[in-house]
Amino acid sequence: MDNMITLTIDGVSVEVPQGTNVLEAARKAGVHIPTLCYLKDINEIGACRMCVVDTGARALQAACVLPATNGMVVKTNTPAIRKYRKTLLELVLSAHDQKCLSCIRSTNCELQRLCRELGVENGDAFKGVQNEYAIDDVSPAIVRDNNKCIVCRRCVAVCQKVQKVGVIGPVMRGFKTAIESPWGLKLNDMACINCGQCITACPVGALHEKDDTAKVWAALQDPSKHVVVQPAPAVRAALGEEFGIPMGTSVTGKMVSAMKRLGFDKVFDTDFGADLTILEEANELVERVTNGGVLPMITSCSPGWIKFCETYYPDFIPNLSSCKSPHEMVGAMVKSYYADKAGIDAKDIVVVSVMPCTAKKFEAARPELGHNGLADVDIVITTRELARMIKEAGINFNLLPDGDFDSLMGESTGASVIFGATGGVMEAALRTAYETITGETLEKVDFEAVRGTAGIKEATIKAGDLDVSVAVCSSTGKAAEVLDAVRRGEKNYTFIEVMACPGGCVNGGGQPIVDADTRASVDVRAVRASALYGEDAGKPIRKSHENPEIKQIYADFLGKPGSHRSHELLHTTYQKREKYTD
Ligand code: SF4
Ligand code: SF4
Ligand code: SF4
Repeated sequence: MDNMITLTIDGVSVEVPQGTNVLEAARKAGVHIPTLCYLKDINEIGACRMCVVDTGARALQAACVLPATNGMVVKTNTPAIRKYRKTLLELVLSAHDQKCLSCIRSTNCELQRLCRELGVENGDAFKGVQNEYAIDDVSPAIVRDNNKCIVCRRCVAVCQKVQKVGVIGPVMRGFKTAIESPWGLKLNDMACINCGQCITACPVGALHEKDDTAKVWAALQDPSKHVVVQPAPAVRAALGEEFGIPMGTSVTGKMVSAMKRLGFDKVFDTDFGADLTILEEANELVERVTNGGVLPMITSCSPGWIKFCETYYPDFIPNLSSCKSPHEMVGAMVKSYYADKAGIDAKDIVVVSVMPCTAKKFEAARPELGHNGLADVDIVITTRELARMIKEAGINFNLLPDGDFDSLMGESTGASVIFGATGGVMEAALRTAYETITGETLEKVDFEAVRGTAGIKEATIKAGDLDVSVAVCSSTGKAAEVLDAVRRGEKNYTFIEVMACPGGCVNGGGQPIVDADTRASVDVRAVRASALYGEDAGKPIRKSHENPEIKQIYADFLGKPGSHRSHELLHTTYQKREKYTD
């Protein structure tokens, strides 16, 4: 290939495309250069200078912003470089609180790991300016602790460039530099969409989810409470990583057993709620298409996306499906249908959702998501929080046998499992909408065109005489691009799926954190999604409307999709939001 160049790194000759930086060239040569601020394709700013290399130039240069050139000779591991990196780490530590023992990221912290690998033993080598920052924990979803921040700016890049939100950025200079919201406002006073993508980008413990595990323990220990738990589809695709199980392994059965061992009274499945969502959403789509409703219809199961739309694209609120998200539907059904069947007062039921998502914490507190003065969902914990509870309880996750969900709301189809991957909601809806529109059986249920990790996917699906033009957006940044094109009249769709997180919920802000080195070599989104598509392919029933428990709930309780009772319990409303609330 014409545009290939060859360079030598630590004596290893490597060929790379022109435009490659030295850091990536080194990775290709099998040479590991340590980094802190670098996040491939997202944050390539050479700020932390951990990745310095020697090219024979007068000064050491940061490899992440140094273009590889033909014939270049690079050294990455000289005594001078090792000393430089150690000194850098000692300087970082001089402004760091170093409370590793009580830190949420201990053993999964890139700074801690680098100190260990580079032999930094003395955290007090320099007496730096030790700023004391107040912890910002007002948000229902995100906690910011600047005492642990190393100012790498990875969170800033994700929030601005990937999510196109931009509510955090650097302020001040030198040792006083800190990541803040404008005018020192709390994150909760800004139009932060609670997606948590900044948390999964952060190399240290400066950003984490609001920990709600104490509330769950309290409910489990209260004999007057009947505690029901439900895990989202994407949780089973990643929970195993917290216990050393390879990425991409579905751990559904072990997860259910762990929940039973923790003491939950019932283990229902949010996948059941995903099937219910599809029945309601496909019906809504068909109604809008046949009766001249507002199009394109846009999915509503990602609360990060909903807040983004309400704040930045309020003119699209009428386009949003009125369906609640799957776990909210399950919560509403638990406190009505299940409460009646089990003879339990809904006031005594606590619904706990285990989600791959931090934004679900915000969503559960929305006042419109409830009935008879009761919230549909009482507590939301993330995949990471569930893993901590399992560890705290001393449960040996890897040795657990496979358990089964409880009946009534434990049955699910292949369509619901793929909700956790970008394109999954669209595919599940198309499987049902096709049969609703045509009255024919859909023989081939795999809609490959909407699968994969591309930020924007488009397809036109033929359903009888109707051409259904669809778009799938993963990340709010990509949603903004598509909505701008719709606004300009350049694009015309029938149905749009938006997931706030890149790759969908498998890569949500509440999922196990994967370090930057691994992220550079593994497509986390695709590997985790493969676990869900594998489950889908192995399910005996792969269309939501064929789920026997879904048929039962409509026969017994809801009537039909879009019924008065469905609207009362399963649908919601949205509100225009301001960008600042202070
Ligand atoms: S962020 Fe890392 S280095 Fe800092 S206290 Fe936490 S575990 Fe330790
Ligand atoms: S949660 Fe999302 S929107 Fe809020 S600061 Fe983090 S990346 Fe930005
Ligand atoms: S909060 Fe985390 S990601 Fe953001 S600048 Fe600080 S250390 Fe980096």
